[in-house]
Amino acid sequence: MAGPNAWGPLTAYRSPLFRRWPFTVAVFIELTDHLRCPADHAEGFLVLLPDRVVNRSVREGRLGCPACGRTYAITGGVAQLGGAPAVPPGEGLEAAAAHVLLGLQGPGGYAVLVGSAAAAAPELAKLDPGVAWVAVNPPPGLEDAAPAVSVVRSPLVPLRTRSVRGVILGSEFAADSRWVREAARVTLPGLRVVGRGAEPAVEGLELLASAEGCWVAAKR
Ligand SMILES: [Zn+2]
Repeated sequence: MAGPNAWGPLTAYRSPLFRRWPFTVAVFIELTDHLRCPADHAEGFLVLLPDRVVNRSVREGRLGCPACGRTYAITGGVAQLGGAPAVPPGEGLEAAAAHVLLGLQGPGGYAVLVGSAAAAAPELAKLDPGVAWVAVNPPPGLEDAAPAVSVVRSPLVPLRTRSVRGVILGSEFAADSRWVREAARVTLPGLRVVGRGAEPAVEGLELLASAEGCWVAAKR
């Protein structure tokens, strides 16, 4: 039996899941203001050089770093910011639980889903409308399913410090304190980082709750 992908974007448009959004996997132009170069130098902005833009989102193009001269490709709507770490897929959260634990109040801004947590993106986009989601190193297949999501692949969370409303880490990244520190870095003070797995002990995060293999912390 032919899957939805055999029919391409037209079928996706007609399905109830996608009716409310343009079927565009892409990097939101506005997200560029919040992206940072993942190279090891002082945080700076990236310059967007778009080649193909659909509905204010970039399908093909490049991001350039004025500080170090590196350029990164946006191909098929995915920003390739230096490659994802080679870790096996882990566990994310059910969308309903992710929605409650992240606790976003109202639309606006950006929230980040790392690794397996990004599998909940299509449902979260419905539960928290008006929030722009950024999937960092999502599991394969999300590119075809999450029109309200910008997809990036990167060796760290490639966003500026204190720039997002919250982060959810899949278990494969929550197990790495470097990624928990990255999640804390990009989150706005007072807002939440959620992880799957053992409770982290990371400076700048205050643990609020932990149960059934999930934890919630507030950025100090
Ligand atoms: Zn750079």
